[in-house]
Amino acid sequence: MKKLALHWQILIGMVAGVLFGIFLSKFNWGPSLVQDWVKPIGQIFISLLKLIAIPLIIVSLVKGIADLQDISKFSKIGGRTILIYVLTTVVAISIGLLMVNIIQPGNSISSETLEELTSAFSGDAEKKVSAAMDQQEKGPLQFVVDMVPQNFFAAASDNGSMLQIIFFTIFFGISLLLIKPEHRKPVAHLFDGLNEVILKMVDLIMLIAPYAVFALLASLVVETSNPELLQALLVYAATVLAGLAVMIAIHAIVVKSYTGKSPQFFFKGISPAQLLAFSTSSSAATLPVTMERVEEHLGVEKEVSSFVCPVGATINMDGTSLYQAVAAVFIAQALDFELSFSDQLTIILTATLASIGSAAVPGAGMVMLVIVLEAIGLPADKLAIGLAMIFAIDRPLDMCRTMINVTGDAAVSMVVAKSIGKLGEPKAKNWDDNYTG
Ligand code: ASP
Repeated sequence: MKKLALHWQILIGMVAGVLFGIFLSKFNWGPSLVQDWVKPIGQIFISLLKLIAIPLIIVSLVKGIADLQDISKFSKIGGRTILIYVLTTVVAISIGLLMVNIIQPGNSISSETLEELTSAFSGDAEKKVSAAMDQQEKGPLQFVVDMVPQNFFAAASDNGSMLQIIFFTIFFGISLLLIKPEHRKPVAHLFDGLNEVILKMVDLIMLIAPYAVFALLASLVVETSNPELLQALLVYAATVLAGLAVMIAIHAIVVKSYTGKSPQFFFKGISPAQLLAFSTSSSAATLPVTMERVEEHLGVEKEVSSFVCPVGATINMDGTSLYQAVAAVFIAQALDFELSFSDQLTIILTATLASIGSAAVPGAGMVMLVIVLEAIGLPADKLAIGLAMIFAIDRPLDMCRTMINVTGDAAVSMVVAKSIGKLGEPKAKNWDDNYTG
């Protein structure tokens, strides 16, 4: 019997997880049963993906650079990647601003709803504000300083230090290219072998993906409190979702017009990563799968994907930046805070920076939203109310924006690969080939 394609398996797992969660929420004992016996499967899966992320980046980046043979190509990849990442982010924010100014979701919030929302979530909002304050105390060049690790093992022991690992690995890879071939060859050979091992580990982890997303979504459903409050934010959520839909269409159009690959090819190739991004709300946790899909199923050569994907997971967040633009204007509208045209320009600039600074983990985009709100001059009391107001619906929106973040990384990988002649035919002919064990 023909095996069901992976994206269908994951989708079935997701739907079954939601239904199971809704069903068990009806019993008093249901939520704790899910928490105790189902949620751990999802947690183990996320831990496995995180576990593999740092070794995967190191091995595939070293292999990618070693295969390049020529350093000037690497600087081309680097320059183009950063430029396209910034460009797509600015486009995403502009779409968000356009949507929120046309739909004006903030005007549909009554003062009673506002009060209800803010009283329910003020504690959570405070935590986000204080997390953002910690970020802000740093100087403007601190992020460059932070990129250079003092100790390899310290950096490798923290998944939040991915840029440090990327820095070390590029340094290592370039030095590898500069030594004599007789010394380089055995090292490159070792990394070739290690690369195969790590990719096999990703394949094996993915075997439990459908069950893991079932567990993740079932536990999310039983943990969701106050579903009625979500309804008050429906117009706002619809605005974010409409913006994200436009952005995903733009990704597909760019891929089609620049690389000639059809949207069907693109989405078929990347869909398992998108579904995992949706289920985990973390581009960092999804990274191993994104890289594997981009290489094996979209035809991007390792020289490109090994750099573009991990850097993208850390700094390129089209979905997050679009969301930050919509959320900032929505809060201003709901709290009657006038925004001038120059405030909207400020949003473009600060949301670009805030999305670069957002960690690739659940909820990070909302922490960095504080920086956008402060830049447009929203007073501290309104800021806390604003965040509390959107808190109830942040998780579902986080799931959707993470999906767009990952899609953006894949689209840019294809564009950069095409631009330097490194986009070929996908290695996996049947696009589920790799997950057959
Ligand atoms: N969860 C998002 C990601 O991992 C970041 C965010 O928008 O909160 O890409």
